[in-house]
Amino acid sequence: MNFESVDAHCHINFFKNAGDIALECEKRKVHTIYVTTLPSQFDETFKYVKLLKYIYPSLGFHCLESNYNLEKEKKLFLKNIDKTKFIGEVGLDFSKRAVKSKEEQKELFKFVLEAIKGKDKILNLHSASAEDEVLRMIIKYDAKKAIFHWYSGKISTLNKILDYGYYFSINESMCRSKKGQNIISKLPRNRILVETDAPFIEDTLPYNNLNVYYYFSELWTMKLENVQEIFYNNFIELQEHSSKYGNLFHECPRMIN
Ligand SMILES: [Zn+2]
Repeated sequence: MNFESVDAHCHINFFKNAGDIALECEKRKVHTIYVTTLPSQFDETFKYVKLLKYIYPSLGFHCLESNYNLEKEKKLFLKNIDKTKFIGEVGLDFSKRAVKSKEEQKELFKFVLEAIKGKDKILNLHSASAEDEVLRMIIKYDAKKAIFHWYSGKISTLNKILDYGYYFSINESMCRSKKGQNIISKLPRNRILVETDAPFIEDTLPYNNLNVYYYFSELWTMKLENVQEIFYNNFIELQEHSSKYGNLFHECPRMIN
């Protein structure tokens, strides 16, 4: 394929051979947002990944993490905040599996949003069963750019997210499920990014995520290369423009749909 591919959400550090995975992304020119779930993960690995052109280290503080020193992690978050444009994985999870209370999670998310307020950052969001509250909070704190990762909420909320110009990253699991397919069908082409969420989806890697491309190729009756070009352009656009105002995108001649 001619265009460089993208993985907008990958937990590289959760692989046993994390170094090899990162080097392979680099070799194969896969633009990979390396999300972390605690600031200490970012802090420990930043010195290695900052040397790589295709890896975008993302400073995270995940609502499902529970066993850590809160004050220490908050300090590390603030210490590292200006080293990257990417913030995540962060957000809220109101599903049954969440250990922390809704209030505790909101407190943590508020800390993150206050810390980045006014800065040019791109949020990588977890929003399971909490989509409305995540959207409400990012609007309240005026977050300009955000990617809703593995979105599984209501279509009405999805439409509001689109109104604010935010993005969605789609993975193989979503392409396989009825619910995921319905969500995908509601998205304009210029707001879609591709992700693996590796290693959480079996057999997908940033450089081995072709099933997503095949899915869109069929859906849009388009060559694989063209699908890849759209996703690559979306990733570039996301980094160039403020996404708060949806109109900006409709005026852009490179955009389709
Ligand atoms: Zn994740």
